[in-house]
Amino acid sequence: MKRLSGTTTVAGVAGSPIRHSLSPQIHNAWIEAAGLDAVYVPFSPPPDDFLRFADGLRGGAIRGLNVTLPFKEAALSIADQASDRAVLAGAANLVIFDEDGRITADNVDGLGLLAAFSVQQPGFDPKAGPMVVIGAGGAARGAAAAFVVAGAPEVRIVNRTLARAELVAGSLGRRVRAYPLSAAADAFEDAAAIVNATSAGLMEESVELPLDRAPDAAIVMDMTYRPLETPFLQRARQLGRPTVDGLEMLIRQAEPSFEAFFGVSPPKDVDVRSLCIETLKADPC
Ligand code: NAP
Repeated sequence: MKRLSGTTTVAGVAGSPIRHSLSPQIHNAWIEAAGLDAVYVPFSPPPDDFLRFADGLRGGAIRGLNVTLPFKEAALSIADQASDRAVLAGAANLVIFDEDGRITADNVDGLGLLAAFSVQQPGFDPKAGPMVVIGAGGAARGAAAAFVVAGAPEVRIVNRTLARAELVAGSLGRRVRAYPLSAAADAFEDAAAIVNATSAGLMEESVELPLDRAPDAAIVMDMTYRPLETPFLQRARQLGRPTVDGLEMLIRQAEPSFEAFFGVSPPKDVDVRSLCIETLKADPC
């Protein structure tokens, strides 16, 4: 069993629910391989009281937290300082508690998304054509912001509730346009990539979308990774479209988080993807 000391650096992930999070497995595997005096813990704050929970951590007893559903917007709002990309995304998934009591916030989901594309589809170029993001919640907003910053010529937000898509588009500049779900086929035409950033996978539903209307080379990505092979990715593969999965994004956003918590890069020789796949097989939902 791991020895914990008075000097052990503590980091973690806060979400609700949190039981299924793979982040503790990823970070603790890296911590062990790097031989760090550190531990990464899952936290489940009350769903309506993240601010009090995070306020109580000011001062650095805990080095930092990854933040997941439903606390990403609250995590940004409590920060004394936030990165440009967190402000643009309107949400934070990484907070650091400085010793002077200040909280700094960042959003590395966009980095994770782009890195996952680079790993699983190395030819991917965000400047190559229109990027489609399905959904208009925090994850969709972060993805759209990342594509805008990476130089995408156009970003199309497709959402069930058009007004939410319009809100996201309106806040990200004139290269971002909103589409209702019923006009998904129009958005898919000439798309270079299509990202499912809805939580429909969380509810074990598949959003029926006309993926056959996308160009043959359009890369299809699903942020959901339970199951790893979502119905959306299955359909894309049946149609012969190249794909990127949500687990790769999760792992790639964990890398800059680990560096922010512990001041070193994650060791390269740990196959955290295989570890996570084993866990997903044993506990698929
Ligand atoms: P969210 O804020 O709750 O947004 C949910 C979005 O999904 C909304 O746009 C909603 O549409 C849409 N939606 C929900 N059910 C739907 C359905 N049956 N049909 C069509 N649209 C539906 O959630 P979020 O924080 O953006 O997260 C979205 C997903 O991304 C989650 O599954 C999360 O786990 C995943 N994620 C993965 C990673 C990763 O590293 N792989 C990182 C971040 C997030 P309305 O606006 O019409 O309600």
